[in-house]
Amino acid sequence: MGKALIIGAGGVASVVIHKCCQNPDVFEEICIASRTVEKCEAIKAKLDGGKTKIQTAHVDADNTDMVIDLIKSFGPDIVINVALPYQDLTIMDACLATGVNYVDTANYEPPEIPKFEYSWQWAYKERFEKAGIIGLLGSGFDPGVTSVFCAYAQKHYFDEINYIDIVDANAGDHGYAFATNFNPEINIREITAPGSYWENGEWIETEPLSMKKVYDLPEIGPKDIYLLHHEEIESLAINIKGIKRIRFWMTFSEKYLTHLKVLENVGMTSIEPIEYEGKQIIPLQFLKAVLPDPASLGPRTKGKTNIGCIMQGIKDGKPRTYYVYNVCVHEECYAEVGSQAISYTTGVPAMIGAMMIMKGIWNKPGVHNIEEFDPDPFMEALNKCGLPWKESFSPTLLD
Ligand code: NDP
Repeated sequence: MGKALIIGAGGVASVVIHKCCQNPDVFEEICIASRTVEKCEAIKAKLDGGKTKIQTAHVDADNTDMVIDLIKSFGPDIVINVALPYQDLTIMDACLATGVNYVDTANYEPPEIPKFEYSWQWAYKERFEKAGIIGLLGSGFDPGVTSVFCAYAQKHYFDEINYIDIVDANAGDHGYAFATNFNPEINIREITAPGSYWENGEWIETEPLSMKKVYDLPEIGPKDIYLLHHEEIESLAINIKGIKRIRFWMTFSEKYLTHLKVLENVGMTSIEPIEYEGKQIIPLQFLKAVLPDPASLGPRTKGKTNIGCIMQGIKDGKPRTYYVYNVCVHEECYAEVGSQAISYTTGVPAMIGAMMIMKGIWNKPGVHNIEEFDPDPFMEALNKCGLPWKESFSPTLLD
């Protein structure tokens, strides 16, 4: 059917590439391009010889012209951006300049400000629409699948959804004292930032990790969950009818939080540059260099993740509750694609989002958050591509 350019060669990219190769009718040819080309070649070496033709390239995606040249020489139908959020705008600029569709899994964040928000990418809406191309934002798990879960509930089960709690639980154990499951810099910036949720039309800000509850998750059991700011809240607050409150919760173990507190207290999570032996270094980037590479956690991680949305609203004048979630097993992901479940749950939806566009199933030009598209074909693809979901109409609610 066509060609995809995949930018990034980390944990998530590796899953995207494995999944594209499992769907060679859609992804006939792919190019893996990243800053460190050896990483692209290592992934290619694992998958070469299948039906999908693979090539690799070096690209610095902070440099728009370099991305434009690569797009012109490879000629993709779509660019799947699984590098870092810092590269979102340069890659979107390159897609605009060449008239190619764009997909990502995380919203733009300027390197110097730890602030996730969509304003920078939403500013491209008109230009993408005029160019007749699609910019699909947030096609990972959260944002991504959680957003599609909400759109699906809105379409089939509710006249209005008033309350949404997104719960992201990881009960996996990698055996290290401290490691992050995806890019440590992005992960720690997210967790150490103030929390916030959306209520009655405004953001309520909370101290970092100050709101905690215990939730008994299907197939995982009771876990400590902490309120975080998360990017899908911003777009769901606009795209879901009748919404009064949206919150996002994530599990953390005591051990993880104790390590994080110590690292914070000694200044290792700071993004302010400091002088070290005559050089400017950013402590958080140095910390990333000494922590385990998330891509290396695959063979060590055992246990399950459970990510889903608990909703309350109204259908035909009556109150209704609904919970939809996916459970993923770290070891099964590793057996299938050589990655742990966090990379897997992000990479599979990135491939599915791209597939929706490549097949012309989602064909609305402009820049859109994923919940703005028809959720049904995506929900069907989740079941087929390794992320089956389950639903319940009588979940325990969070107060
Ligand atoms: P990794 O750090 O493992 O991989 C990032 C990759 O991007 C690396 O290969 C890196 O290259 C490459 N890269 C970084 N800067 C550039 C650049 N300037 N030009 C070209 N390539 C570059 O991260 P993950 O795979 O864990 O995460 C990928 C993305 O997925 C992130 O944006 C993350 O926020 C997002 N994510 C989304 C989730 C969701 O559910 N929506 C969940 C988890 C992650 P190099 O090897 O040279 O460093």
